[in-house]
Amino acid sequence: MSGSDSPRAARIGRVRAAMQQAGVDALLLSLGADLPWLTGYEAMPLERLTMLVLPADDDAVLVVPQLEAPRVAEDPDVFTVAPWKEGTDPVAAVAALVGSRRRLGIGDRTWATFLVGLQEALPGRDWGVASAVTGPLRAVKDEAEVAALAAASAAADRVAHQLLGGDIRLIGRTEADVSADISRRLIAEGHQRTNFAIVGSGPNSASPHHDASARVIGAGEPVVFDFGGTMDGYCSDTTRTVFTGEPSAEFLQLYSVLQEAQAVGVQAARVGVTCEGVDQATRAVIDQAGYGAAFIHRTGHGIGLEEHEDPYIAAGNRTPLVSGHAFSVEPGIYLAGHMGARIEDIVVATADGPRPLNHSSHDLTVVV
Ligand code: ZN
Ligand code: ZN
Ligand code: ZN
Repeated sequence: MSGSDSPRAARIGRVRAAMQQAGVDALLLSLGADLPWLTGYEAMPLERLTMLVLPADDDAVLVVPQLEAPRVAEDPDVFTVAPWKEGTDPVAAVAALVGSRRRLGIGDRTWATFLVGLQEALPGRDWGVASAVTGPLRAVKDEAEVAALAAASAAADRVAHQLLGGDIRLIGRTEADVSADISRRLIAEGHQRTNFAIVGSGPNSASPHHDASARVIGAGEPVVFDFGGTMDGYCSDTTRTVFTGEPSAEFLQLYSVLQEAQAVGVQAARVGVTCEGVDQATRAVIDQAGYGAAFIHRTGHGIGLEEHEDPYIAAGNRTPLVSGHAFSVEPGIYLAGHMGARIEDIVVATADGPRPLNHSSHDLTVVV
């Protein structure tokens, strides 16, 4: 262990401190976001095991298939690499590194086949999930992570601007066609990968996770767009709702309530306020306007290396916001089978107040 000031070395220091507090002797990290967060390397979802053995009291070692090892950038301040040769047993290699350590945290996304093998090779241990240690730490973004989230959000905003500016024709095209168009634009604006591009038109706007379908977008209807991708490891996620023509009075009323609720939610997202407090503040606006039963999901989710991670902005989450928490504020109002709308921004809690990372207009925009 050494004292580098790289972000990853600092993260591993925080993880070790949290392990000591939680009484965890070693973390075993394979698939999922914990490994790239600490090492910059993402394990391949393969039958060949990749696993970081991170003891609370000793150096971390990445056990990796020899043929993948050239892709790993070793960082002696954080971890060393132990390639395993074809024909040898990587589970035995991990077990040897664990030694007599008893309380183990296994990465949440580790394949069951490896966990079962490890449990046979390491009998009599206490097993828990690694996220109990890493989840609350990963939720608090450091400077480099906030910068990465801001860059991904800005790239998604450029697509939102194209949408709100009328560059993406809607009427007469299928939802699926427009969704593919948005996916291409996310890539063109700098994402390496599109994660989703929801397009819900007309009655489909009332279905929060509607999959873009063969429905042809018509005139005079709401269309909900919820899209995001991954850029340099970090995720974007933004939602805007437009109307294809002159909005009805009914929709204008619904939308103005939603717009206020979303703004109130963002303003509530101050350091020290609980996650459920932000949810309640958002929900109260919608409740008071009589749409309470139509807001059928939580207000938001944390975002980082994963699209959905801690902290969840939901009833029952009494975690107080701290500077560096990054999450969505995305209320929606859905009148089943009829019409719906959602507005979503990513927000970072800071000492100076909530910092939204998305900046495209919230005003109801007519796009044809
Ligand atoms: Zn969602
Ligand atoms: Zn979204
Ligand atoms: Zn979201």
